[in-house]
Amino acid sequence: MTPSAISKLRRALLAWYRRRRRDLPWRSTRDPYAIWLSEVMLQQTRAAAVIPYYERFLARFPTVESLAAAPEQVVLTLWSGLGYYSRARNLHRAARQIVQRGSFPGTYDEIRALPGVGAYTAAAVASIAFDLPHAVLDGNVVRVLSRLSAEPGLVSRSETRARLDALAARLLPRSAPGSFNQAVMELGATVCLPRRPLCLQCPLAAQCLAHQRGLESQFPVRPAPPKIVETEQRLLIVTRSTRVLLTERPANSVRLGGMWELPESGQLPDAVLVEPLGTFRHAIVSTSYHYEVWTAKLPRPPQGFTWCGAEELGRLPLTTAARKALRLAGFVPAVSHK
Ligand code: SF4
Repeated sequence: MTPSAISKLRRALLAWYRRRRRDLPWRSTRDPYAIWLSEVMLQQTRAAAVIPYYERFLARFPTVESLAAAPEQVVLTLWSGLGYYSRARNLHRAARQIVQRGSFPGTYDEIRALPGVGAYTAAAVASIAFDLPHAVLDGNVVRVLSRLSAEPGLVSRSETRARLDALAARLLPRSAPGSFNQAVMELGATVCLPRRPLCLQCPLAAQCLAHQRGLESQFPVRPAPPKIVETEQRLLIVTRSTRVLLTERPANSVRLGGMWELPESGQLPDAVLVEPLGTFRHAIVSTSYHYEVWTAKLPRPPQGFTWCGAEELGRLPLTTAARKALRLAGFVPAVSHK
């Protein structure tokens, strides 16, 4: 792409962004803590789902100091339902490091060194909060750039990523790089959609090679998707008076460590099933869980299980499966805002 074509592309994209961008709460701040929080929440999660969590989190922890001072359980509880809980744990650890060093890190390398911060998040925070010229390459940007350049390589390959990285860096202007990064991400999120890109509304249509060839849906080039594994599980609602039996997953568990969940029937071989309450599905990465929920009786729970009342349910970091099952059983755990 020639320098004049690049200038034209930047102007078109930034003009579109000024006119069409969504009004998202993290776009009205330059506070690096709030921008970092939004970027961590937005990893793997759509903006619409993030908004209430972001607002609740900032209301509870308005500063990095307040987040660092909170117990991990409270942080996990506020995160509960957003998924990928290692993000919350890393956020909390990083907040403590930031407080220890005395200020929010102000360079790409320092931001990148925080727990849970990868190249994408570091570039996003550095460019948006500090106007540093680091191009972002998240899933949306990869899609836009792959189509723009009709990139023929598999996106999972490092050579392809390197080419896309180089293209992103070439396109990034020195002035207001944060706005440009956000504009490319916004285009990917709202116009250059994975299945049916809205090319007629796209400010880059005239320069997009995939569009010129009518091959938008063939980019980015991906390997065959992994097979979905189907798993069945039976969750038990065992109650005593107004309390329900729960267990905490080991803190070092790879998946959902430190979260609270309902017992599965295999964990309570002495439980007697009483009544089916319903079923639901929940997918995590490439596993599709099919849950059956039953009320059950159990004279004495084994070690490692805890009776929890309604107030505790609102405070504990519950797994999404536990929340859904408790809702079926008529318990509606609300997230505590205190
Ligand atoms: S023209 Fe279509 S395929 Fe190309 S960047 Fe725009 S929306 Fe995506």
